[in-house]
Amino acid sequence: MKYINKRLTMEKVNFQRIAKKFGTPFYCYSYSKLKENVSNFKKNFKSFSPLICFAVKSNTNVNLIREIKKFGLGADVVSLGELMMAIKAGIKPNKIVFSGVGKTSSELNFAINKKILLINAESLSEIMEINRLAKLKNKKVRVGVRLNPNTDAKTLNQISTGKKENKFGVNKNTFHKIVDFCKSSKNIDLKCLSVHIGSQILDHRPYGKMLKAVSHILDKTNHQFEFIDLGGGMGINYSDKNKELNYKKYNTAINNFLKKHKVKIIFEPGRSIIGNTGILISKVIYIKDSGRKKFIILDAAMNDLMRPALYGAFHMTLPVIKSSKISNKPYEFVGPICESTDKFITLKKFQKLEENDLIAICDVGAYGMSLSSNYNLRPKPIELLIKGSKINVIRKRQKYTEII
Ligand SMILES: *Cc1c(COP(=O)(O)O)cnc(C)c1O
Repeated sequence: MKYINKRLTMEKVNFQRIAKKFGTPFYCYSYSKLKENVSNFKKNFKSFSPLICFAVKSNTNVNLIREIKKFGLGADVVSLGELMMAIKAGIKPNKIVFSGVGKTSSELNFAINKKILLINAESLSEIMEINRLAKLKNKKVRVGVRLNPNTDAKTLNQISTGKKENKFGVNKNTFHKIVDFCKSSKNIDLKCLSVHIGSQILDHRPYGKMLKAVSHILDKTNHQFEFIDLGGGMGINYSDKNKELNYKKYNTAINNFLKKHKVKIIFEPGRSIIGNTGILISKVIYIKDSGRKKFIILDAAMNDLMRPALYGAFHMTLPVIKSSKISNKPYEFVGPICESTDKFITLKKFQKLEENDLIAICDVGAYGMSLSSNYNLRPKPIELLIKGSKINVIRKRQKYTEII
């Protein structure tokens, strides 16, 4: 993305042109960026060629998942809906892993029938349920167990998942109990140990600690695992100040781990694959001067992009057409929804905006549209995929007739 003749442009189309044609707000993704991200991810870990399962919850658009499938990725799903979507996008069940703390019997049944690669169980009760269902079908089911390694991912509290106070995975004691149970079961084939310590991780050291915890428990477990699923969580650069995850060091730590443990590695990246491919374009409806600051009231809101309201997340915000005039007051970018948290960002300095101007909220490819809702009965925005100079509608704008 860059400014060409002062117009913010993705690949070969500028957002002003798209807005004229499709209206606002809209999500827009770059195909070439997606391709680049996948290729970089593979390159970072090419010494042990892992199975890369895209975390579908980060972006559930079937057309995007289809493109991701064409790059050879599998899927990590966390619900029946996501499992069905991954299959609809053409991902083969033998490249799908199913995570989540609360899979119901019908979700498990569907996964068993589809013979997916792994059901990653997160409790002893879930293992018992899988065993019961598999027995009824007289089948042997490939299973993983998610370990809670009690490692602090050093990320936002709300997206931390690997500490003992988090609901995810099982502790060491339960892990050993589950291994013993699985070994005695005719219907469970224990293939994998999985971990996922959180999201938006920019420091490689928690991953090192996580690997140590996994290595330690493997040493104490008398079972040969075929797979170690290291989850996702690789962070992206949302602001200029942010540092980047040191993939080299993570890769080195995994290679050291692999010297000791002969296993195949699985990753479940979401954000690092899709996060920086997407942008949300919105129009300024009104500008309201409140004395100290001006409210820039947008036609996009927290129902379209929840991350700022949910986590206080920062998203770079840019003008779609650049000018050199600077605002005389701080700008607070807000949506029309009846909640005070319906606010994207406050900026002390921004170029001077007028009503009807367009602004771009960056890096919304992950947990943007997938977290959207119809709150305030607002229809969900249209999604577009840019390939060079081509604009593909990959999901239509929701119609009022669909929600009323
Ligand atoms: C959310 C999630 C992921 C993906 O996390 P990212 O930070 O988007 O890479 C992977 N695995 C599991 C189990 C998850 O819940």
